[in-house]
Amino acid sequence: MGSESLGRGQSGRLTHDSTLYLVNQSHPFRVQFSASNETSSSSAQKGKVVERLKASDKTKGGMNNRGREVQSTGPKRSIQDFFASSPKKIAGFDIDGCIITTNSGKVFPTSPDDWRILFPEIQPKLASLLKKGYKVVFFTNQMGISRGKLKPEDFKSKVENILKTLQLPVQVFVASGPGIYRKPVMGMWEHLCEKGNGGVAVDKSQSLYVGDAAGRPVNWAPGKKKKDFSCSDRLFALNLGLQFHTPEEFFLGWKTAPFSLPPFDPRKSDSNARLYDPPSASLTSTKQEVIIAVGFPASGKSTFFHTHIVPKGYVYVNRDTLGSWQSCVSACERALKEGRSVAVDNTNPDPESRKRYLQSLGVSCRCFNFSASLEQAKHNNRHMRMSCKINACMKVFAHSEQTFSSRRKKFVAPSLSEGFSEILQVHFVPTFTDSQSEALFRQFSEG
Ligand SMILES: [Mg+2]
Repeated sequence: MGSESLGRGQSGRLTHDSTLYLVNQSHPFRVQFSASNETSSSSAQKGKVVERLKASDKTKGGMNNRGREVQSTGPKRSIQDFFASSPKKIAGFDIDGCIITTNSGKVFPTSPDDWRILFPEIQPKLASLLKKGYKVVFFTNQMGISRGKLKPEDFKSKVENILKTLQLPVQVFVASGPGIYRKPVMGMWEHLCEKGNGGVAVDKSQSLYVGDAAGRPVNWAPGKKKKDFSCSDRLFALNLGLQFHTPEEFFLGWKTAPFSLPPFDPRKSDSNARLYDPPSASLTSTKQEVIIAVGFPASGKSTFFHTHIVPKGYVYVNRDTLGSWQSCVSACERALKEGRSVAVDNTNPDPESRKRYLQSLGVSCRCFNFSASLEQAKHNNRHMRMSCKINACMKVFAHSEQTFSSRRKKFVAPSLSEGFSEILQVHFVPTFTDSQSEALFRQFSEG
């Protein structure tokens, strides 16, 4: 469903304009809900749930997971109704594992009431920040909302209860799904700066952010055995260029804990790097041939072929458009019979998938091995998905996480012994249409 893969027996939730694939990434259907006169029908009920989700997001200064501003049914309230003044200094906090923890001791709350304030030091510390002229803002990822596992109204009342307990004015942003609002991507912060701070410019150099997803390893402190489940809070601060602290450092004064950043750093993806190796190789040939791609989804194969190979007259064969590998092989054979050269743009992870083309009609075969790492490819995929949402693309060629893991399991590096006349290493070199797209690409993101 959309970007999510459902296994046997799992369920999900579709909203207006969602895409349902009958087979992973194939046979897409766009969901269109239309107005109905039936008063007690389940579709009317579903429409209501979606509306409630949007309304509750709005009152928390957030937005729905497509990032659109939605009108709530109640009177429109402005940020000034909640905060007498909007300071330029922001003290930002994650909620789960930072401001609160579960009462049950479990990792995930067992019910909306399963929480307590994490440390007694938190309330006085936040109160003193307010006194020093900071605005206290909570930024929380709540993917459970878009997955239908957490009711927005339940989460809203949970946050209200937390704020009642703290007895402090706090602004809260909730990212209810994937995309540009989900930490570590900066969307929630940007929304705060553009629309949620009463027109007062935020001073990042005087602001700070605190969260528990900090990339700390196992046994990072005595009695703290578990490693952090993610690094998204530290990366959120890093994307923003904000001072970062863990809750233990900030509220309890613990010394700085060790941590590691993810192996892939999108800031280091070089737009001027060499595109392929060996550099002496020729990308196209005047003799008839088949070029077979090998590489993760979103490793830059399609862009590369459409930029460098297809314009030279090669017939482009791709399973996303043709459906099955059998159709791809037939298309390849047809083109070869017509005397054309062919570029096969599939992931072709193992010798078996490549052999299908190598056996084609005794024409010379070259392999273009797209060298992007799994992490680079996943990053590209997330970037593609986010850009598509922003630009409202009609077609999303984004892939599910499952596609990546199955491709990785099957992968066997291509070798000349399979019958290739040459193997080229093609590197992922990002290109950007505009600075906004590059700024988004350079941010750390997580699935
Ligand atoms: Mg947390």
